[in-house]
Amino acid sequence: MNQKVFVTRSSLPPYEEYVKAIKPLWESHWITNMGHFHQELEERLKGYLEVSEISLMVNGHMALELAIQAFDFPKEAEVITTPFTFVSTTHAIIRNHLRPVFCDVKIEDGTIDENKIEELITKKTVAIVPVHVYGNICQMEVIEEIAKRYNLKVIYDAAHAFGVKYKGEGIGNYGNASVFSFHATKVYNTIEGGAVTFSEHTMYEKLYNLKNFGIQGEELVTDIGANAKLNEFAAVMGLCNLKYIDKIIEERKKRYEFYWINLKEIKGIRLLSRDKQITSNYAYLPVVVEDEYGLDRDRLYACLRENGIYSRKYFYPLTADQACFGEKYKSVELVCARELSRKILVMPLYEELEMKEIRRIVNIIKNRGLENV
Ligand SMILES: *Cc1c(COP(=O)(O)O)cnc(C)c1O
Repeated sequence: MNQKVFVTRSSLPPYEEYVKAIKPLWESHWITNMGHFHQELEERLKGYLEVSEISLMVNGHMALELAIQAFDFPKEAEVITTPFTFVSTTHAIIRNHLRPVFCDVKIEDGTIDENKIEELITKKTVAIVPVHVYGNICQMEVIEEIAKRYNLKVIYDAAHAFGVKYKGEGIGNYGNASVFSFHATKVYNTIEGGAVTFSEHTMYEKLYNLKNFGIQGEELVTDIGANAKLNEFAAVMGLCNLKYIDKIIEERKKRYEFYWINLKEIKGIRLLSRDKQITSNYAYLPVVVEDEYGLDRDRLYACLRENGIYSRKYFYPLTADQACFGEKYKSVELVCARELSRKILVMPLYEELEMKEIRRIVNIIKNRGLENV
């Protein structure tokens, strides 16, 4: 019996290294509330992501919620966003008492269709929240030109795009803010964690305040904030994992390329387009199961599962079609997003995934669901 292969596996530093690194916490007893390691990790990440400002958060979702809250948008204002994402993106908008206006995506790479944004803008629109889905970068120049013309804020959900560069520059420098996730399942993790990057310095104070209940002093609370502070154990994990991130991305790249050259030959299997101006982090390997393949996506998913391969239907259903929203957005025209959602399947990919397992996966896909033919 083959071993089970999951879609991802959390990166961990050597055990001894982490244990040694947390020792000082037993001396200081300062284990959360923007301690030494929290501050050190902010500095290190500024360097790695090549951004001027960063604020660490307890997770990517709270980073997104508070990044949106920081702009003080009027209640019930509209935010143009994509439904082809993790539910967090849509939840963060709605939990801020704003209305998501879903824009279709491009069938080639899954990112928001920049040519369909403008027709969705109304007097109530205040922001655009695009997603760099799978680390595929949105057409940022076009999006920001539209935002400038209509005086809108742009907040990128960059949860999949840690370390990705566009034209040689860290993508966290684009828009009014970008949000990263350091969840255990992402390319880079702090167990749970996240960050907001931005260029306006005043936002640092604002986010610091919001992640700490809005407390300004012992007797003064100025904002209705939340508790979104990254603790010291998580920060140390982040510092340790950061030492290995280039190696991790390098190992992911080898596996990604191996999948790519083998899968691109298979009739009916389509790989999403890659932009030559992007330095990738090889976060995900999504495949599109086209009609010509012979089996539909759900059949391939089931065949892989029977062979111990746990691929994932990221992202199906669309967030707009999730049970929590009932019929509310069912009539919104999202032709490409719904098609992609119906055909997409994300393959296992992580730095220690054995090449023989990838070969096995490729063979199953090649043989239309059968391991040996
Ligand atoms: C993971 C993820 C988030 C949420 O991040 P957490 O750290 O899990 O809270 C938000 N958006 C997208 C697209 C994600 O994949």
